[in-house]
Amino acid sequence: MSNKQRKPKIRKMHFNILTVFPEMFPGTLGAGVVGRALDKNIWSMNVVNIRDFAINNYGSVDDEQFGGGAGMVMRPDVLGDAIDSIKNKGKIIYFSPRGVPLNQKLVREFVADKNAVYTLLCGRYEGIDERVLQEYDIMEVSIGDYILSGGEVAAQVFVDSCVRLLDNVVGGGIDATNNESFEIGGLEWPLYTRPSVWRGRNVPEVLLSGHHGNIERWRKQQSVDITKARRPDLIKENKK
Ligand code: SAH
Repeated sequence: MSNKQRKPKIRKMHFNILTVFPEMFPGTLGAGVVGRALDKNIWSMNVVNIRDFAINNYGSVDDEQFGGGAGMVMRPDVLGDAIDSIKNKGKIIYFSPRGVPLNQKLVREFVADKNAVYTLLCGRYEGIDERVLQEYDIMEVSIGDYILSGGEVAAQVFVDSCVRLLDNVVGGGIDATNNESFEIGGLEWPLYTRPSVWRGRNVPEVLLSGHHGNIERWRKQQSVDITKARRPDLIKENKK
């Protein structure tokens, strides 16, 4: 696929974020290229405090599990009201270890979506009442095979990975986001910058040669070797 075809058509994205910790946003999303993009209105967010829809004055949003067992579950009535308070919901995503694993291909698909509006539901405690997932057309997304204490970090991973693909977010143009691990069919080659000698360690000769063909061949080979050694599953995936 040529670089031109990979360019996302959408220039802006909007995220509704449902959380019991609104103070966690923008958090990491307020810094660096993604933070600058927020300032420039390339993406926007609407943070909804789930506690505003609590069942009582104590701010309760969770309850004990039916069937017993340790850990609390977020109540469907509270979450339903919180979700219904959002006018333009777009696609609703619930972050969960049970979800489809997030990867760069999936991120590309989210960014390419015509609407580009997402409602991100951040779980806490043991998770949310199953009926919420049935009531709304919710997609479950996982950011990896480990357990977080809440969905907020997952939501930030999701927003960051999407926003950096939008136009005018990452410097260096479309090349900077295309020449990266997973985008190049494997893992990235080793990177070097000045000084050319550091603590007796040299930069590989070929990179100083100015010979673009040789440099490209070297990088490809390095990428293949590293991918074979560390993530052979990615090579199999490409052959599919
Ligand atoms: N009881 C659940 C884990 C709950 S962790 C289970 O065993 O599957 C609490 C919250 O953190 C979840 O509701 C979810 O929103 C978030 N979370 C935890 N791990 C996650 C992961 N790997 N990816 C995305 N969200 C995750």
